[in-house]
Amino acid sequence: MIITQIFDLINIGIVILKRDLKVYKWNHWMELHSEIDADKIIGSSILDFFPNLNTPKFLRSCKSVLTFGNFCFFSQRLHHYLFPCKSASYFDSKFEYMQQSCAMGPLRDRNNNIKYLYIYVHDVTEVADYEQKLLEMNMKDGLTEIYNRRFLEVRLKEEFERHKRYSRSFSIIMFDIDFFKKINDVHGHQCGDFVLKSISSSISSIIRETDCLSRYGGEEFCCLLPETSLDSALEVAERFRTAILEQENNFSGFSVKVTISLGVAELREEIDSPDILLKKADEALYEAKRTGRNRVVAMS
Ligand code: GH3
Ligand code: MG
Ligand code: MG
Repeated sequence: MIITQIFDLINIGIVILKRDLKVYKWNHWMELHSEIDADKIIGSSILDFFPNLNTPKFLRSCKSVLTFGNFCFFSQRLHHYLFPCKSASYFDSKFEYMQQSCAMGPLRDRNNNIKYLYIYVHDVTEVADYEQKLLEMNMKDGLTEIYNRRFLEVRLKEEFERHKRYSRSFSIIMFDIDFFKKINDVHGHQCGDFVLKSISSSISSIIRETDCLSRYGGEEFCCLLPETSLDSALEVAERFRTAILEQENNFSGFSVKVTISLGVAELREEIDSPDILLKKADEALYEAKRTGRNRVVAMS
């Protein structure tokens, strides 16, 4: 009696299955979160109610519990959940479905024979959300929400290794806002921040999914372009330049127009480190500044 009350009071999901995977017990937590009443599901195969569990991996796990008495763990990182349930609404979650850490194991009768299989379900959505936010904070720039320099350097290293192995073409574009200090001085720092955000968002909307745009420094950006030759990267850079040139940045009722200068570099055999590639793009950018700004210059 007391055990039954605990079974329904406990703040985790508990499911007990018979050897044929028909539901034997379904606690109150499971009723609440799955929105399936115990009366409805008890006696039916768990696979009928949760077809997503009808996978070779899940069935193998059940078999290993029922045959050998093994324990299996279904981590949130790998599986996200076993039982699709709506995320609880008490906090603002990024996940549509409750993130679950689940485990299963055997339940034995007096003669030590395995009679049932239990699954417990632990809601880890809140922890998974924090983890996700930390991961994002670690790779994104807080102001512009594009990638940060740390993430760019990791990606650049990966692309560099890929190029060494497969010789795929790869280019980068470095760009910097022209006379940005003046924007801050004339219109204020908040307007400067607004311009940084709006440039980031318009360039993000131009690039391909596989490209990687990052804020490299204060008002300097770097875009990685995998599978892109120097000629194509120059065309992309020209598109960046005209998009920003034509962009109206409407801040507090007035329009602030800016231009950018761009340097483009391609990964070639003689470039033997990611730093040298960055340096090549930076030199080209410096040349674009030196020769009048609002220009695209290719590496020499
Ligand atoms: P150039 O055409 O040679 O690039 O001139 P510039 O004025 O853009 O370059 P400079 O390096 O002299 O000034 C860059 C300015 O960018 C100075 C700094 O205050 C501003 N800045 C850097 N980070 C931020 C930021 O996060 N927000 C704002 N509003 N300004 C920033
Ligand atoms: Mg500048
Ligand atoms: Mg600068």
